[in-house]
Amino acid sequence: MNQKLLSGIAASNGIAIAKAFRLENPELIVEKAAISNTDAELTRFESAVDQSKSELEIIKEHTAQQMNDEEAAIFSAHLLVLSDPELLGPITEKIRSENINAEFALQETSNMFIGLFESMDNDYMKERAADIRDVTKRVLAHLLGVSIQSPSIITDEVIIIAEDLTPSDTVQLNPLYVKGFITDIGGRTSHSAILARTLEIPAVVGAQTVMSSIRNGMTVIVDGLNGDIIVNPDAETIARYEDKKASYELQKSEWARLKNEATVTSDGHHVELGANIGTPKDVVGVLEHGGEAIGLYRTEFLYMGRNQFPTEDEQVEAYSSVLKQMDGKPTVVRTLDIGGDKELSYLQLPKELNPFLGLRAIRLCLEMEDMFRTQLRALLRASIHGNLKIMFPMIATIEEFRQAKTLFLEEKAKLENEQIEVSNTIEVGIMVEIPSTAVMADIFAKEVDFFSIGTNDLIQYTMAADRMNERISYLYQPFNPAILRLVKNVIDAAHKEGKWTGMCGEMAGDEIAIPILLGLGLDEFSMSASSILKARTQISKLSKMEMESHIDAILSLSTSEEVVSYMNKLSGMKK
Ligand code: PEP
Ligand code: MG
Repeated sequence: MNQKLLSGIAASNGIAIAKAFRLENPELIVEKAAISNTDAELTRFESAVDQSKSELEIIKEHTAQQMNDEEAAIFSAHLLVLSDPELLGPITEKIRSENINAEFALQETSNMFIGLFESMDNDYMKERAADIRDVTKRVLAHLLGVSIQSPSIITDEVIIIAEDLTPSDTVQLNPLYVKGFITDIGGRTSHSAILARTLEIPAVVGAQTVMSSIRNGMTVIVDGLNGDIIVNPDAETIARYEDKKASYELQKSEWARLKNEATVTSDGHHVELGANIGTPKDVVGVLEHGGEAIGLYRTEFLYMGRNQFPTEDEQVEAYSSVLKQMDGKPTVVRTLDIGGDKELSYLQLPKELNPFLGLRAIRLCLEMEDMFRTQLRALLRASIHGNLKIMFPMIATIEEFRQAKTLFLEEKAKLENEQIEVSNTIEVGIMVEIPSTAVMADIFAKEVDFFSIGTNDLIQYTMAADRMNERISYLYQPFNPAILRLVKNVIDAAHKEGKWTGMCGEMAGDEIAIPILLGLGLDEFSMSASSILKARTQISKLSKMEMESHIDAILSLSTSEEVVSYMNKLSGMKK
Protein backbone atom coordinates (compact mmCIF):
# COMPACT_ATOMS: atom_id res chain seq x y z
CA MET A 1 0.00 0.00 0.00
CA ASN A 2 1.25 3.43 -0.86
CA GLN A 3 2.36 5.90 1.71
CA LYS A 4 0.08 8.92 1.94
CA LEU A 5 0.56 12.34 3.55
CA LEU A 6 -2.41 14.18 5.07
CA SER A 7 -2.38 17.25 7.21
CA GLY A 8 -4.42 19.10 9.78
CA ILE A 9 -4.03 21.47 12.71
CA ALA A 10 -1.24 20.61 15.16
CA ALA A 11 -3.15 20.30 18.43
CA SER A 12 -0.91 18.52 20.92
CA ASN A 13 2.88 18.17 20.74
CA GLY A 14 4.70 14.92 20.24
CA ILE A 15 4.96 12.11 17.74
CA ALA A 16 3.18 8.77 17.79
CA ILE A 17 3.37 5.73 15.53
CA ALA A 18 0.72 3.00 15.90
CA LYS A 19 -2.18 1.21 14.25
CA ALA A 20 -5.36 3.14 13.49
CA PHE A 21 -8.50 2.57 15.54
CA ARG A 22 -11.63 4.14 14.09
CA LEU A 23 -14.02 5.47 16.71
CA GLU A 24 -17.41 5.64 15.07
CA ASN A 25 -20.81 6.72 16.20
CA PRO A 26 -23.10 5.03 13.69
CA GLU A 27 -26.61 6.21 12.98
CA LEU A 28 -29.15 3.61 14.10
CA ILE A 29 -32.09 3.50 11.73
CA VAL A 30 -35.11 1.52 12.93
CA GLU A 31 -37.97 0.46 10.69
CA LYS A 32 -41.18 -1.29 11.67
CA ALA A 33 -41.51 -4.85 10.35
CA ALA A 34 -44.01 -7.65 10.84
CA ILE A 35 -42.57 -10.96 12.08
CA SER A 36 -43.87 -14.48 11.71
CA ASN A 37 -41.88 -16.28 14.41
CA THR A 38 -42.47 -14.51 17.73
CA ASP A 39 -40.40 -16.92 19.79
CA ALA A 40 -37.36 -16.45 17.56
CA GLU A 41 -37.77 -12.68 17.80
CA LEU A 42 -37.95 -12.85 21.60
CA THR A 43 -34.78 -14.94 21.68
CA ARG A 44 -33.06 -12.44 19.40
CA PHE A 45 -34.06 -9.62 21.77
CA GLU A 46 -32.90 -11.51 24.88
CA SER A 47 -29.56 -12.26 23.32
CA ALA A 48 -29.05 -8.57 22.37
CA VAL A 49 -29.80 -7.66 26.00
CA ASP A 50 -27.33 -10.29 27.26
CA GLN A 51 -24.59 -9.13 24.89
CA SER A 52 -25.14 -5.53 26.03
CA LYS A 53 -24.91 -6.59 29.66
CA SER A 54 -21.58 -8.39 29.20
CA GLU A 55 -20.23 -5.39 27.31
CA LEU A 56 -21.33 -3.05 30.10
CA GLU A 57 -19.68 -5.28 32.73
CA ILE A 58 -16.37 -4.98 30.86
CA ILE A 59 -16.66 -1.20 30.41
CA LYS A 60 -17.60 -0.83 34.08
CA GLU A 61 -14.54 -2.76 35.19
CA HIS A 62 -12.19 -0.80 32.89
CA THR A 63 -13.66 2.49 34.02
CA ALA A 64 -13.23 1.56 37.69
CA GLN A 65 -9.57 0.69 37.02
CA GLN A 66 -8.71 3.66 34.82
CA MET A 67 -10.90 6.37 36.32
CA ASN A 68 -12.71 5.73 39.61
CA ASP A 69 -15.69 3.96 41.16
CA GLU A 70 -17.84 7.03 40.83
CA GLU A 71 -17.50 7.11 37.06
CA ALA A 72 -17.97 3.33 36.92
CA ALA A 73 -21.30 3.79 38.73
CA ILE A 74 -22.79 5.16 35.49
CA PHE A 75 -22.46 1.72 33.99
CA SER A 76 -23.94 0.04 37.07
CA ALA A 77 -27.00 2.22 36.52
CA HIS A 78 -27.13 1.07 32.89
CA LEU A 79 -26.94 -2.56 33.99
CA LEU A 80 -29.84 -2.00 36.35
CA VAL A 81 -31.96 -0.62 33.51
CA LEU A 82 -31.23 -3.75 31.49
CA SER A 83 -32.58 -5.96 34.27
CA ASP A 84 -35.67 -3.88 34.98
CA PRO A 85 -38.91 -5.82 34.30
CA GLU A 86 -40.81 -2.49 34.16
CA LEU A 87 -38.97 -1.75 30.92
CA LEU A 88 -38.33 -5.24 29.52
CA GLY A 89 -41.88 -6.52 30.21
CA PRO A 90 -43.69 -4.04 27.94
CA ILE A 91 -41.14 -4.64 25.15
CA THR A 92 -41.55 -8.41 25.07
CA GLU A 93 -45.30 -7.98 25.46
CA LYS A 94 -45.33 -5.68 22.43
CA ILE A 95 -43.34 -8.16 20.31
CA ARG A 96 -45.69 -10.95 21.32
CA SER A 97 -49.04 -9.17 20.99
CA GLU A 98 -48.33 -7.00 17.94
CA ASN A 99 -46.05 -9.44 16.04
CA ILE A 100 -43.52 -6.70 15.37
CA ASN A 101 -39.72 -6.69 15.24
CA ALA A 102 -37.68 -6.29 18.43
CA GLU A 103 -35.94 -3.06 17.25
CA PHE A 104 -39.24 -1.29 16.78
CA ALA A 105 -40.78 -2.59 20.03
CA LEU A 106 -37.67 -1.51 21.93
CA GLN A 107 -37.53 1.95 20.40
CA GLU A 108 -41.25 2.66 20.86
CA THR A 109 -41.29 1.52 24.47
CA SER A 110 -38.07 3.33 25.39
CA ASN A 111 -39.24 6.55 23.77
CA MET A 112 -42.44 6.36 25.77
CA PHE A 113 -40.50 6.05 29.06
CA ILE A 114 -37.94 8.69 28.05
CA GLY A 115 -40.72 11.17 27.22
CA LEU A 116 -42.51 10.38 30.48
CA PHE A 117 -39.41 10.76 32.71
CA GLU A 118 -38.16 13.86 30.95
CA SER A 119 -41.47 15.65 31.44
CA MET A 120 -41.24 15.18 35.21
CA ASP A 121 -39.97 18.04 37.30
CA ASN A 122 -37.56 15.76 39.08
CA ASP A 123 -33.83 15.57 38.42
CA TYR A 124 -33.62 11.93 39.45
CA MET A 125 -36.22 10.87 36.89
CA LYS A 126 -34.55 12.99 34.19
CA GLU A 127 -31.31 11.11 34.82
CA ARG A 128 -33.16 7.80 34.42
CA ALA A 129 -34.33 9.03 31.01
CA ALA A 130 -30.69 9.58 30.02
CA ASP A 131 -29.80 6.06 31.19
CA ILE A 132 -32.62 4.52 29.15
CA ARG A 133 -31.50 6.49 26.07
CA ASP A 134 -27.91 5.17 26.36
CA VAL A 135 -28.94 1.59 27.04
CA THR A 136 -31.47 1.56 24.19
CA LYS A 137 -28.74 2.68 21.80
CA ARG A 138 -26.49 -0.17 22.90
CA VAL A 139 -29.17 -2.89 22.58
CA LEU A 140 -30.34 -1.47 19.24
CA ALA A 141 -26.79 -1.59 17.90
CA HIS A 142 -26.65 -5.30 18.73
CA LEU A 143 -30.01 -5.97 17.13
CA LEU A 144 -28.97 -4.11 13.99
CA GLY A 145 -25.52 -5.73 13.92
CA VAL A 146 -23.67 -2.40 14.19
CA SER A 147 -20.76 -1.97 16.59
CA ILE A 148 -20.49 0.98 18.96
CA GLN A 149 -17.23 1.48 20.73
CA SER A 150 -16.27 3.08 23.97
CA PRO A 151 -12.76 4.57 24.13
CA SER A 152 -12.39 3.16 27.63
CA ILE A 153 -12.24 -0.45 26.38
CA ILE A 154 -9.16 0.02 24.19
CA THR A 155 -6.38 -2.27 25.40
CA ASP A 156 -3.87 -2.12 22.52
CA GLU A 157 -1.59 0.73 21.51
CA VAL A 158 -3.57 2.68 18.92
CA ILE A 159 -4.07 6.01 17.24
CA ILE A 160 -7.71 7.02 17.35
CA ILE A 161 -9.29 8.24 14.14
CA ALA A 162 -12.62 10.01 14.58
CA GLU A 163 -14.92 12.51 12.99
CA ASP A 164 -14.79 14.41 16.28
CA LEU A 165 -14.16 13.61 19.91
CA THR A 166 -16.35 15.11 22.57
CA PRO A 167 -14.66 16.29 25.77
CA SER A 168 -16.22 13.32 27.59
CA ASP A 169 -14.81 10.88 24.98
CA THR A 170 -11.42 12.52 25.45
CA VAL A 171 -11.35 12.23 29.25
CA GLN A 172 -11.94 8.49 28.83
CA LEU A 173 -8.78 8.05 26.73
CA ASN A 174 -6.08 6.13 28.51
CA PRO A 175 -2.64 7.47 27.47
CA LEU A 176 -1.19 4.03 28.17
CA TYR A 177 -2.92 2.70 25.05
CA VAL A 178 -4.06 5.74 23.11
CA LYS A 179 -0.82 7.01 21.64
CA GLY A 180 -2.37 9.75 19.56
CA PHE A 181 -5.55 10.93 17.91
CA ILE A 182 -6.67 12.54 14.70
CA THR A 183 -10.05 14.13 14.05
CA ASP A 184 -11.68 15.49 10.94
CA ILE A 185 -13.22 18.49 12.65
CA GLY A 186 -12.20 20.90 15.41
CA GLY A 187 -9.54 23.53 15.97
CA ARG A 188 -6.54 24.10 18.26
CA THR A 189 -8.73 25.56 20.98
CA SER A 190 -11.56 23.02 20.86
CA HIS A 191 -11.77 21.28 24.20
CA SER A 192 -10.73 17.87 22.93
CA ALA A 193 -7.46 19.48 21.73
CA ILE A 194 -6.96 21.20 25.08
CA LEU A 195 -7.52 17.91 26.91
CA ALA A 196 -5.08 16.12 24.61
CA ARG A 197 -2.38 18.58 25.70
CA THR A 198 -3.23 17.94 29.36
CA LEU A 199 -3.07 14.18 28.83
CA GLU A 200 0.12 14.71 26.73
CA ILE A 201 -1.32 12.69 23.85
CA PRO A 202 0.00 13.86 20.44
CA ALA A 203 -2.94 15.04 18.34
CA VAL A 204 -3.87 16.56 15.00
CA VAL A 205 -7.38 17.97 14.57
CA GLY A 206 -9.41 19.46 11.72
CA ALA A 207 -7.78 17.09 9.20
CA GLN A 208 -11.04 16.86 7.19
CA THR A 209 -10.40 13.61 5.30
CA VAL A 210 -9.06 11.05 7.77
CA MET A 211 -12.32 9.17 8.21
CA SER A 212 -12.59 8.68 4.48
CA SER A 213 -8.93 7.67 4.01
CA ILE A 214 -7.86 5.62 7.04
CA ARG A 215 -9.13 2.11 7.76
CA ASN A 216 -8.83 0.14 11.01
CA GLY A 217 -5.40 -1.41 11.49
CA MET A 218 -3.48 0.79 9.03
CA THR A 219 -0.17 2.10 10.41
CA VAL A 220 -0.30 5.83 11.03
CA ILE A 221 2.18 8.47 12.18
CA VAL A 222 0.76 11.51 13.99
CA ASP A 223 3.08 14.48 14.08
CA GLY A 224 1.47 16.78 16.64
CA LEU A 225 4.41 19.19 16.32
CA ASN A 226 3.45 20.38 12.86
CA GLY A 227 0.11 18.75 12.01
CA ASP A 228 1.30 16.04 9.59
CA ILE A 229 -0.29 12.60 9.32
CA ILE A 230 1.44 9.81 7.41
CA VAL A 231 -0.67 6.80 6.46
CA ASN A 232 1.06 3.49 5.60
CA PRO A 233 4.56 4.94 6.14
CA ASP A 234 7.46 3.07 4.54
CA ALA A 235 10.41 1.86 6.62
CA GLU A 236 12.51 4.91 5.83
CA THR A 237 9.75 7.32 6.94
CA ILE A 238 9.20 5.38 10.15
CA ALA A 239 12.93 5.60 10.91
CA ARG A 240 12.94 9.36 10.22
CA TYR A 241 10.04 9.91 12.59
CA GLU A 242 11.60 7.69 15.28
CA ASP A 243 14.60 10.09 15.10
CA LYS A 244 12.37 13.14 15.27
CA LYS A 245 10.60 11.65 18.29
CA ALA A 246 13.93 10.96 20.02
CA SER A 247 15.21 14.49 19.45
CA TYR A 248 11.95 15.93 20.79
CA GLU A 249 12.39 13.80 23.94
CA LEU A 250 15.98 15.07 24.25
CA GLN A 251 14.84 18.67 23.94
CA LYS A 252 12.28 18.06 26.68
CA SER A 253 15.00 16.82 29.01
CA GLU A 254 16.98 20.02 28.36
CA TRP A 255 13.99 22.20 29.23
CA ALA A 256 13.57 20.14 32.43
CA ARG A 257 16.76 21.63 33.85
CA LEU A 258 14.76 24.64 35.06
CA LYS A 259 12.12 22.50 36.77
CA ASN A 260 12.79 23.75 40.29
CA GLU A 261 13.64 27.35 39.38
CA ALA A 262 11.42 30.42 39.50
CA THR A 263 10.55 32.00 36.16
CA VAL A 264 12.82 35.04 35.82
CA THR A 265 13.76 37.12 32.77
CA SER A 266 17.38 37.94 31.92
CA ASP A 267 16.85 41.38 33.53
CA GLY A 268 15.55 39.90 36.78
CA HIS A 269 11.78 40.28 36.39
CA HIS A 270 9.66 37.43 37.82
CA VAL A 271 6.47 36.23 36.17
CA GLU A 272 4.35 33.35 37.37
CA LEU A 273 4.06 30.26 35.20
CA GLY A 274 0.94 28.27 35.96
CA ALA A 275 -0.93 25.38 34.42
CA ASN A 276 -4.44 24.74 33.21
CA ILE A 277 -6.05 21.61 34.62
CA GLY A 278 -9.32 19.73 34.20
CA THR A 279 -9.28 17.27 37.11
CA PRO A 280 -7.50 16.83 40.47
CA LYS A 281 -5.44 14.06 38.85
CA ASP A 282 -3.79 16.61 36.55
CA VAL A 283 -2.01 18.28 39.49
CA VAL A 284 0.67 15.58 39.46
CA GLY A 285 1.65 16.66 35.92
CA VAL A 286 1.67 20.34 36.97
CA LEU A 287 4.18 19.67 39.75
CA GLU A 288 6.25 17.34 37.57
CA HIS A 289 6.56 20.11 35.00
CA GLY A 290 7.54 22.69 37.63
CA GLY A 291 4.28 24.71 37.65
CA GLU A 292 4.30 27.64 40.09
CA ALA A 293 0.52 27.90 40.19
CA ILE A 294 -2.72 26.67 38.71
CA GLY A 295 -4.00 29.51 36.55
CA LEU A 296 -7.17 27.73 35.47
CA TYR A 297 -8.98 24.73 36.90
CA ARG A 298 -11.85 23.99 34.49
CA THR A 299 -14.33 22.57 37.02
CA GLU A 300 -16.89 21.55 34.39
CA PHE A 301 -15.04 18.26 33.85
CA LEU A 302 -16.10 17.24 37.35
CA TYR A 303 -19.67 17.48 36.09
CA MET A 304 -19.05 15.36 32.97
CA GLY A 305 -18.94 11.60 32.31
CA ARG A 306 -21.60 10.93 34.94
CA ASN A 307 -25.37 10.98 35.08
CA GLN A 308 -26.11 13.50 37.79
CA PHE A 309 -24.67 16.66 39.31
CA PRO A 310 -21.78 16.11 41.73
CA THR A 311 -22.94 16.68 45.31
CA GLU A 312 -21.55 19.50 47.44
CA ASP A 313 -19.42 17.00 49.40
CA GLU A 314 -18.01 15.44 46.22
CA GLN A 315 -17.04 18.91 45.04
CA VAL A 316 -15.44 19.81 48.38
CA GLU A 317 -13.35 16.67 48.05
CA ALA A 318 -12.17 17.49 44.51
CA TYR A 319 -11.36 21.16 45.23
CA SER A 320 -9.65 20.32 48.54
CA SER A 321 -7.56 17.68 46.82
CA VAL A 322 -6.27 20.21 44.29
CA LEU A 323 -5.56 22.83 46.97
CA LYS A 324 -3.76 20.36 49.24
CA GLN A 325 -1.60 19.02 46.44
CA MET A 326 -0.67 22.60 45.47
CA ASP A 327 0.48 23.17 49.06
CA GLY A 328 -0.10 26.93 49.31
CA LYS A 329 0.72 27.77 45.67
CA PRO A 330 -1.86 30.05 43.99
CA THR A 331 -4.79 28.03 42.62
CA VAL A 332 -7.36 29.74 40.40
CA VAL A 333 -10.59 27.76 40.19
CA ARG A 334 -13.07 28.73 37.53
CA THR A 335 -16.75 28.23 38.28
CA LEU A 336 -18.78 26.02 35.96
CA ASP A 337 -18.48 26.77 32.23
CA ILE A 338 -21.06 24.53 30.60
CA GLY A 339 -22.42 25.28 27.13
CA GLY A 340 -20.67 25.83 23.79
CA ASP A 341 -18.93 22.52 23.02
CA LYS A 342 -19.27 21.31 26.61
CA GLU A 343 -22.59 19.58 27.30
CA LEU A 344 -23.88 17.60 30.24
CA SER A 345 -25.84 14.52 29.17
CA TYR A 346 -28.13 14.80 32.20
CA LEU A 347 -28.88 18.49 31.72
CA GLN A 348 -31.29 18.50 28.82
CA LEU A 349 -31.24 22.12 27.74
CA PRO A 350 -33.10 23.27 24.63
CA LYS A 351 -30.92 23.11 21.49
CA GLU A 352 -29.56 26.50 20.51
CA LEU A 353 -28.67 27.76 17.04
CA ASN A 354 -25.46 29.37 18.32
CA PRO A 355 -24.40 27.53 21.48
CA PHE A 356 -21.19 29.59 21.84
CA LEU A 357 -23.35 32.73 21.93
CA GLY A 358 -26.03 31.16 24.07
CA LEU A 359 -26.86 30.15 27.60
CA ARG A 360 -23.29 29.31 28.59
CA ALA A 361 -21.08 29.57 31.68
CA ILE A 362 -22.04 32.37 34.10
CA ARG A 363 -25.28 32.96 32.20
CA LEU A 364 -26.41 29.40 32.93
CA CYS A 365 -25.12 29.59 36.52
CA LEU A 366 -27.09 32.75 37.22
CA GLU A 367 -30.19 31.07 35.81
CA MET A 368 -29.63 27.80 37.70
CA GLU A 369 -28.87 29.54 40.96
CA ASP A 370 -29.12 26.48 43.24
CA MET A 371 -26.55 24.60 41.23
CA PHE A 372 -24.24 27.64 41.32
CA ARG A 373 -24.70 28.20 45.06
CA THR A 374 -23.76 24.55 45.68
CA GLN A 375 -20.52 25.03 43.79
CA LEU A 376 -19.71 28.28 45.63
CA ARG A 377 -20.36 26.63 49.01
CA ALA A 378 -18.11 23.72 48.06
CA LEU A 379 -15.33 26.11 47.02
CA LEU A 380 -15.68 28.10 50.23
CA ARG A 381 -15.56 24.94 52.37
CA ALA A 382 -12.44 23.76 50.51
CA SER A 383 -10.77 27.20 50.76
CA ILE A 384 -9.08 26.49 54.10
CA HIS A 385 -6.82 23.92 52.42
CA GLY A 386 -4.75 26.27 50.29
CA ASN A 387 -4.39 29.49 48.35
CA LEU A 388 -7.74 29.64 46.55
CA LYS A 389 -8.75 32.25 43.98
CA ILE A 390 -12.12 32.03 42.27
CA MET A 391 -13.04 33.38 38.85
CA PHE A 392 -16.25 33.60 36.87
CA PRO A 393 -16.27 32.69 33.15
CA MET A 394 -17.88 34.58 30.25
CA ILE A 395 -18.53 37.82 32.10
CA ALA A 396 -20.00 40.33 29.62
CA THR A 397 -21.29 43.04 31.96
CA ILE A 398 -20.39 44.41 35.35
CA GLU A 399 -23.88 43.50 36.58
CA GLU A 400 -23.17 39.82 35.97
CA PHE A 401 -20.01 40.08 38.04
CA ARG A 402 -21.84 41.88 40.85
CA GLN A 403 -24.63 39.29 40.87
CA ALA A 404 -22.17 36.39 40.99
CA LYS A 405 -20.07 38.08 43.69
CA THR A 406 -23.22 38.74 45.76
CA LEU A 407 -24.12 35.03 45.66
CA PHE A 408 -20.55 34.22 46.70
CA LEU A 409 -20.72 36.63 49.65
CA GLU A 410 -24.15 35.33 50.69
CA GLU A 411 -22.90 31.73 50.74
CA LYS A 412 -19.82 32.82 52.67
CA ALA A 413 -21.96 34.58 55.30
CA LYS A 414 -24.23 31.52 55.59
CA LEU A 415 -21.29 29.21 56.20
CA GLU A 416 -19.85 31.57 58.78
CA ASN A 417 -23.22 31.62 60.55
CA GLU A 418 -23.14 27.84 60.57
CA GLN A 419 -19.70 28.09 62.26
CA ILE A 420 -18.03 26.44 59.24
CA GLU A 421 -14.51 27.69 58.74
CA VAL A 422 -13.75 29.47 55.45
CA SER A 423 -10.75 31.45 54.26
CA ASN A 424 -10.94 35.23 54.45
CA THR A 425 -8.33 35.85 51.77
CA ILE A 426 -10.01 34.36 48.68
CA GLU A 427 -9.50 36.64 45.68
CA VAL A 428 -12.49 36.89 43.33
CA GLY A 429 -11.76 37.67 39.70
CA ILE A 430 -13.12 37.20 36.21
CA MET A 431 -12.18 35.69 32.90
CA VAL A 432 -11.83 38.38 30.25
CA GLU A 433 -13.02 36.56 27.15
CA ILE A 434 -15.74 38.81 25.77
CA PRO A 435 -14.72 42.02 23.96
CA SER A 436 -17.19 44.20 25.91
CA THR A 437 -15.34 43.31 29.11
CA ALA A 438 -11.90 43.85 27.60
CA VAL A 439 -12.97 47.30 26.43
CA MET A 440 -14.50 48.16 29.83
CA ALA A 441 -11.56 46.74 31.80
CA ASP A 442 -11.01 50.08 33.62
CA ILE A 443 -14.49 49.85 35.14
CA PHE A 444 -14.11 46.17 36.07
CA ALA A 445 -10.63 46.72 37.54
CA LYS A 446 -12.12 48.82 40.34
CA GLU A 447 -14.25 45.87 41.55
CA VAL A 448 -12.48 42.61 40.70
CA ASP A 449 -9.36 41.26 42.43
CA PHE A 450 -7.77 40.03 39.20
CA PHE A 451 -8.28 39.33 35.52
CA SER A 452 -7.47 36.18 33.58
CA ILE A 453 -7.61 36.67 29.84
CA GLY A 454 -9.27 33.75 28.03
CA THR A 455 -7.94 34.24 24.54
CA ASN A 456 -9.57 31.10 23.12
CA ASP A 457 -12.91 32.80 23.44
CA LEU A 458 -11.70 36.40 23.27
CA ILE A 459 -10.32 35.69 19.79
CA GLN A 460 -13.42 33.82 18.61
CA TYR A 461 -15.72 36.62 19.80
CA THR A 462 -13.53 39.48 18.56
CA MET A 463 -13.04 37.93 15.12
CA ALA A 464 -16.59 36.46 15.00
CA ALA A 465 -15.01 33.09 14.12
CA ASP A 466 -16.32 29.88 15.72
CA ARG A 467 -13.36 28.20 17.46
CA MET A 468 -14.69 24.75 16.46
CA ASN A 469 -14.87 25.44 12.74
CA GLU A 470 -11.70 24.32 10.94
CA ARG A 471 -12.76 26.08 7.72
CA ILE A 472 -12.27 29.49 9.29
CA SER A 473 -9.35 28.57 11.53
CA TYR A 474 -7.28 31.19 9.68
CA LEU A 475 -9.21 33.75 11.74
CA TYR A 476 -7.83 32.37 14.98
CA GLN A 477 -5.29 35.20 15.05
CA PRO A 478 -3.69 35.76 18.46
CA PHE A 479 -1.29 38.22 16.84
CA ASN A 480 -3.88 40.34 15.15
CA PRO A 481 -3.17 43.85 16.53
CA ALA A 482 -6.88 44.02 17.46
CA ILE A 483 -6.33 41.25 19.99
CA LEU A 484 -3.00 42.66 21.20
CA ARG A 485 -4.57 46.07 21.78
CA LEU A 486 -7.40 44.51 23.81
CA VAL A 487 -4.86 42.55 25.88
CA LYS A 488 -2.88 45.75 26.53
CA ASN A 489 -6.05 47.56 27.59
CA VAL A 490 -6.82 44.85 30.15
CA ILE A 491 -3.31 44.67 31.62
CA ASP A 492 -2.94 48.48 31.85
CA ALA A 493 -6.38 48.85 33.49
CA ALA A 494 -5.54 46.21 36.10
CA HIS A 495 -2.14 47.72 36.91
CA LYS A 496 -3.66 51.17 37.33
CA GLU A 497 -5.79 49.76 40.15
CA GLY A 498 -2.97 47.70 41.64
CA LYS A 499 -4.50 44.41 40.42
CA TRP A 500 -2.83 41.56 38.53
CA THR A 501 -3.59 40.04 35.13
CA GLY A 502 -3.05 36.50 34.00
CA MET A 503 -3.76 34.74 30.73
CA CYS A 504 -5.15 31.21 30.60
CA GLY A 505 -6.06 30.96 26.92
CA GLU A 506 -3.80 28.90 24.68
CA MET A 507 -2.00 32.05 23.52
CA ALA A 508 -0.19 32.23 26.90
CA GLY A 509 1.96 29.22 25.98
CA ASP A 510 2.74 30.32 22.43
CA GLU A 511 6.40 30.85 21.63
CA ILE A 512 5.77 33.95 19.50
CA ALA A 513 3.26 35.45 21.95
CA ILE A 514 5.36 35.07 25.09
CA PRO A 515 7.86 37.93 24.38
CA ILE A 516 4.99 40.27 23.42
CA LEU A 517 3.00 39.41 26.56
CA LEU A 518 6.11 39.98 28.65
CA GLY A 519 6.53 43.42 27.07
CA LEU A 520 2.86 44.19 27.72
CA GLY A 521 3.40 43.44 31.43
CA LEU A 522 1.39 40.21 31.83
CA ASP A 523 1.86 38.97 35.41
CA GLU A 524 0.85 35.33 35.13
CA PHE A 525 0.97 32.89 32.19
CA SER A 526 -1.15 29.74 32.46
CA MET A 527 -0.82 26.94 29.91
CA SER A 528 -0.82 23.16 29.42
CA ALA A 529 1.53 21.73 32.03
CA SER A 530 3.64 20.20 29.24
CA SER A 531 4.46 23.70 27.86
CA ILE A 532 5.73 25.18 31.15
CA LEU A 533 9.40 24.18 31.03
CA LYS A 534 9.81 25.25 27.44
CA ALA A 535 8.25 28.63 28.27
CA ARG A 536 10.46 29.05 31.36
CA THR A 537 13.57 28.38 29.28
CA GLN A 538 12.44 30.93 26.70
CA ILE A 539 11.59 33.60 29.30
CA SER A 540 14.94 33.16 31.07
CA LYS A 541 16.61 34.37 27.85
CA LEU A 542 14.35 37.40 27.31
CA SER A 543 14.74 40.91 28.69
CA LYS A 544 11.47 42.50 29.83
CA MET A 545 12.84 45.99 29.32
CA GLU A 546 13.86 45.21 25.79
CA MET A 547 10.46 43.75 24.96
CA GLU A 548 8.74 46.83 26.40
CA SER A 549 10.69 48.94 23.93
CA HIS A 550 9.13 47.03 20.99
CA ILE A 551 5.49 47.29 22.09
CA ASP A 552 4.59 50.58 20.38
CA ALA A 553 6.04 49.36 17.09
CA ILE A 554 4.23 46.01 17.33
CA LEU A 555 0.86 47.57 18.19
CA SER A 556 1.06 49.96 15.26
CA LEU A 557 1.40 47.12 12.70
CA SER A 558 -1.61 46.35 10.50
CA THR A 559 -1.89 42.58 10.33
CA SER A 560 -1.24 39.39 12.21
CA GLU A 561 1.29 38.38 9.56
CA GLU A 562 3.26 41.60 10.05
CA VAL A 563 3.43 40.96 13.80
CA VAL A 564 4.62 37.39 13.25
CA SER A 565 7.35 38.47 10.84
CA TYR A 566 8.43 41.30 13.20
CA MET A 567 8.77 38.74 16.00
CA ASN A 568 10.58 36.22 13.79
CA LYS A 569 13.05 38.87 12.76
CA LEU A 570 13.60 39.81 16.39
CA SER A 571 14.24 36.24 17.51
CA GLY A 572 16.40 35.64 14.40
CA MET A 573 18.63 38.55 15.40
CA LYS A 574 19.11 37.00 18.84
CA LYS A 575 20.18 33.57 17.50
C1 PEP B 1 -10.54 30.68 27.00
O1 PEP B 1 -11.63 30.93 26.50
O2 PEP B 1 -9.46 31.17 26.60
C2 PEP B 1 -10.45 29.75 28.15
C3 PEP B 1 -9.31 29.56 28.78
O3 PEP B 1 -11.57 29.05 28.49
P1 PEP B 1 -12.15 27.80 27.68
O4 PEP B 1 -11.10 27.37 26.70
O5 PEP B 1 -12.45 26.74 28.69
O6 PEP B 1 -13.36 28.37 27.03
MG1 MG C 1 -13.45 30.42 27.52
